[in-house]
Amino acid sequence: MMTGREYVESLKKLKPKVYFMGKEVESVADHPVLRPHVNAAAMTYELAHEPDYEEIMTARSHLTGEKINRFTHIHQSTEDLVKKVKMMRLLGQKTGACFQRCVGFDALNALYIVTYDVDKKLGTDYHERLKKYLLYVQKNDLMCAGAMTDVKGDRGLRPHQQKDPDMYVHAVEKTEAGIIVRGAKAHITGAANSHEIIVMPTRALGPEDKDYAVSFAVPVDTEGVYLIFGRQPNELRRLESFIDCGNAKYGAVGGEALIIFDNVFVPWERVFMCGEYEFAGELVEIFATFHRQNYGGCKVGVADVLVGATTNIAEYIGVANASHVIDKITEMMFMAEACWCGSLACSYEGYKTPSGAYMPNPLLANVTKLLITRFPYEWSRLAQDIAGGLLATCPSERDFKHPKIGKFVEKYCKGVAEVPTEHRIRMLRLIEALSIGAHLVESLHGAGSPQAQKIMIWRRGNIEAKKQLAKIIAGIEEDKYFKRITGKSEEEYFEEFMRKVKQAHK
Ligand code: SF4
Ligand code: FE
Repeated sequence: MMTGREYVESLKKLKPKVYFMGKEVESVADHPVLRPHVNAAAMTYELAHEPDYEEIMTARSHLTGEKINRFTHIHQSTEDLVKKVKMMRLLGQKTGACFQRCVGFDALNALYIVTYDVDKKLGTDYHERLKKYLLYVQKNDLMCAGAMTDVKGDRGLRPHQQKDPDMYVHAVEKTEAGIIVRGAKAHITGAANSHEIIVMPTRALGPEDKDYAVSFAVPVDTEGVYLIFGRQPNELRRLESFIDCGNAKYGAVGGEALIIFDNVFVPWERVFMCGEYEFAGELVEIFATFHRQNYGGCKVGVADVLVGATTNIAEYIGVANASHVIDKITEMMFMAEACWCGSLACSYEGYKTPSGAYMPNPLLANVTKLLITRFPYEWSRLAQDIAGGLLATCPSERDFKHPKIGKFVEKYCKGVAEVPTEHRIRMLRLIEALSIGAHLVESLHGAGSPQAQKIMIWRRGNIEAKKQLAKIIAGIEEDKYFKRITGKSEEEYFEEFMRKVKQAHK
């Protein structure tokens, strides 16, 4: 297993073509805007070496029996699923940010399950290929980006109907040695600082979309792969100030990139789906279940930091004992723990798939993620409510440290006498970083937008059975227990009931 430092060093050996603000990034690990994301991902390596966290940060490979970083593990039990979300809450608490490594982790697990099903039905050998690739990932403790979301073009059209056929990643050529792929994947978390990119289709596909049913893995610095790093609110503060960033060490959300595949060659041993369109929907659903399971872990870990920051700021300005402040912070914790309940529940209710790997309960995983599309907005609102207006108007670190006006900032930004002004400013900046902007958009759209979860809840909610329950209670359909309980049919029971009503009225 790599340490955090070894992970950072390993990135320096790669030469991905990453662009940010119109310039090619020379070294991802040394770039001031990208580095915080590297630090956050490095925490997934570092904590695996901490004796206190070994239990949840590491696992035994089911392939080799060796100790591995849990981020490269295939879940072998519901206990593994529970440990996964505990690991995510822990990492959210330690970084206050997205640590990015979960997406590739979920991609490996989803592909493990689906390649098994494909082989069983079609006699292909994708599962063995994937196992070999997994061994490589485990042995080298690699970070994989999971790339699912296509750019999609006209969303009213299916992939093959698009005017530009590259709106979804597709195989443009097959050769004896492999395939050539073209297209782009959007919003890919941690892509620039991953070693590998694992690509999966983004939606259920029909026979005409066969070429779009493609899954594969490539090293991040493969010929023809370009990464365009997205902008985030306030990210350029990283070039000028430490305190103003709020979370200068670990960033905020994951550091997302648009990945271009410009006629990229992929050898067959790295291809895990090619043309099996009837399994694309299953792969999307299983991957989404794994990723939606996470959000009551990682986002709640970040919420723990925000609750702490909000309570600190209340103390720094002397309102911590006000009953409405206590009530609001309690409300924040209630919402965070409700999301945590979802992550735990879908993990405990997980089940074994034919491949032998375990997956979470899809209905409950989708409920968890849907909660995360709402509650972070509300707990952020409460944090901002308590923090006060200075959250949006606080002078910069440069003014605070200015030889002439610094003393005014020091004097007039002070809260309670005992707390240094700098502590108040640092805490405000942290609340700003955790409650504004990309964090919330990520909660809304990461692992799929709210409507995607609603579709799954509608499909998995077993409406027919619920309709049946209502019909039985309403007496429209036979209630096989009623006679056993009362000793009477519904008619007999009703007649007796009406007799008693009449008597009561006499
Ligand atoms: Fe992991 Fe959460 Fe970031 Fe997704 S949003 S990659 S689950 S930390
Ligand atoms: Fe995400």
